[in-house]
Amino acid sequence: MIKVVKFGGSSLASATQFAKVKEIISADPERRYVVPSAPGKRNAKDTKVTDMLYACYELAEAEESFDKELKKIEERYNSIIHGLNLKLSLKEEFETIHKKFENKDGVEYAASRGEYLNGIIMAEYLGYEFIDAAEVIFFNKNGSFDAEKTDRVLSRRLAKTDRAVIPGFYGMGEDGTVRTFSRGGSDITGSIVAKAVRATAYENWTDVSGCLVADPRVIDHPQTIKVITYRELRELAYMGASVLHEDAIFPVRKAGIPINIRNTNAPEDEGTWIVQTTCHQSEFTITGIAGKKDFVAVNIDKDMMNAEVGFGRKVLTAFEENDINFEHMPSGIDTMTIIVHQPEFEGKEQPVISAIQRLAKPDSVEIESNIALIAVVGRGMKATRGTSGRIFSALAHANVNVKMIDQGSSELNIIIGVSNADFEKAIRAIYDIFVTTQL
Ligand code: ASP
Repeated sequence: MIKVVKFGGSSLASATQFAKVKEIISADPERRYVVPSAPGKRNAKDTKVTDMLYACYELAEAEESFDKELKKIEERYNSIIHGLNLKLSLKEEFETIHKKFENKDGVEYAASRGEYLNGIIMAEYLGYEFIDAAEVIFFNKNGSFDAEKTDRVLSRRLAKTDRAVIPGFYGMGEDGTVRTFSRGGSDITGSIVAKAVRATAYENWTDVSGCLVADPRVIDHPQTIKVITYRELRELAYMGASVLHEDAIFPVRKAGIPINIRNTNAPEDEGTWIVQTTCHQSEFTITGIAGKKDFVAVNIDKDMMNAEVGFGRKVLTAFEENDINFEHMPSGIDTMTIIVHQPEFEGKEQPVISAIQRLAKPDSVEIESNIALIAVVGRGMKATRGTSGRIFSALAHANVNVKMIDQGSSELNIIIGVSNADFEKAIRAIYDIFVTTQL
């Protein structure tokens, strides 16, 4: 059995955190492949090494002196090395980095050094082999990830080694230069490595004990989700709940490998399992609640709309012409509503309205702004009667006016539109009825 373990920046921000990580890895011999992030923040005021590297490279690009800034980064690594009593020197590595910055080797090269150097330290500390991600993770010409080549090379390479550290976040582009994923991309590397070694689990260690049922900024100490499916996670993540990089689920999902979100600072907590499918029933009927503010509803009325073939297409063309994505489209017999993101829509409001007039010739177009959308997600809803009844009675008791309801036929989620001002109140009411009252 093989487990791939990825540790996030806060899990590797200092020597003390490294020591916790070693303890976690040593506690289970199946934890054989380790993917580290760059050192993150040690406290709220601290700066992530990746951000320091971006800032430092910006100076190099502007041909300003960056010595002081690079020295600070070196000091951060040295404090980890000394704190762990390692006999390792990164002096030569920093000389190379200095030269490459002067040569302007690229911002992605610069950012990748955070993981690269942390990987060297981690390998030394654990006594594991270090494998440079630039030798095993590949990007296409257009910067997208080359899954096929990576899986081929990486699985062969890892078959030759029992235990290894592979830094997260970067790989090599077609032209031989270092490329990175988008921010938070070490999660993706962990998933790629898990797929390459056909791992039994991909453990993603961070600073929270898993995915939460609701946003902790809205609900005080929300419950942790024990098991969530990939699809449920996508629904919640789309609505703003974030624990994992969005693209991290694809490699393991294809290979049927579960992800376990764990807390480096509380390793005894079981965390959250993210799985393809499960018979595990959520304790609370719903799995999670997430939401976002700032949507606009564009309400379009036209008598006999139901009899006009192609009306919907004409309306949507008006949005497409203006390059606007729509989120939802609830409709009635003579009305149809298009829900769009407010910031995206604001600058294009008038061109869109005139395009609707021109293409669809409606009787009226009205706009309602400052709408919040809340997604109540749960695989258990399909088999349970009365879920929506409970949601709406809770909202009515909390005096929240529901402006829109959208439930897909998959019955995986119910989307509710309320005014921005009612957003927090609505989430609290839904959380209370499903979770607090069940505890
Ligand atoms: N260090 C990179 C970042 O800060 C990647 C990662 O941590 O996953 O975005």
